[in-house]
Amino acid sequence: MEVTQQQAPKDIGWIEVVAGCMFSGKTEELIRRLRRAQIARQKVVIFKPRIDNRYSANQIVSHNTQTLESIVIDKAEDILSLSKDAQVIGIDEAQFFDMSIVGICDKLANDGKRVIVAGLDQDYRGVPFEPMPQLLAAAEYITKTLAICVVCGNPADRTQRKIANADRVVVGAADSYEARCRKCHYIPD
Ligand code: ZN
Repeated sequence: MEVTQQQAPKDIGWIEVVAGCMFSGKTEELIRRLRRAQIARQKVVIFKPRIDNRYSANQIVSHNTQTLESIVIDKAEDILSLSKDAQVIGIDEAQFFDMSIVGICDKLANDGKRVIVAGLDQDYRGVPFEPMPQLLAAAEYITKTLAICVVCGNPADRTQRKIANADRVVVGAADSYEARCRKCHYIPD
């Protein structure tokens, strides 16, 4: 669910997580929420890990090419020093950060900030993708975005890898993946 104006906590921070497979609209949803905050003249800052170099170095970009200026960082700790003045903090591609991102999001929320995190909750095998499970557990608000299975048209929550590669992370290869439902998804050899 998303936080509405009526529900919004007063004088405390919180964590929202937008989790799902590739092509499910995670980044679009993150951008939508951050834009709403910008329109309300809240101080917004957006981070993404350097590992994700597709399309643009310093913007977050969804697959339908909506963009928002973002700060590319090498490690999760950089978020703390760069967020001091922010009221709302967006983090994209959170699955590419190490586990320290969980404590950092908690600290930001404890300091009264709204933290919105988007990321892949499963890897290409369907295995929970750390640190997303831990972020989901730490969050007050969780949204699971679903794509549409390219094979059968059912709601899809898995990312199908179409190339043979056993590495957990293969970056910059969006055309090597597609969304599949649990029936149509398989683990490539
Ligand atoms: Zn299917």
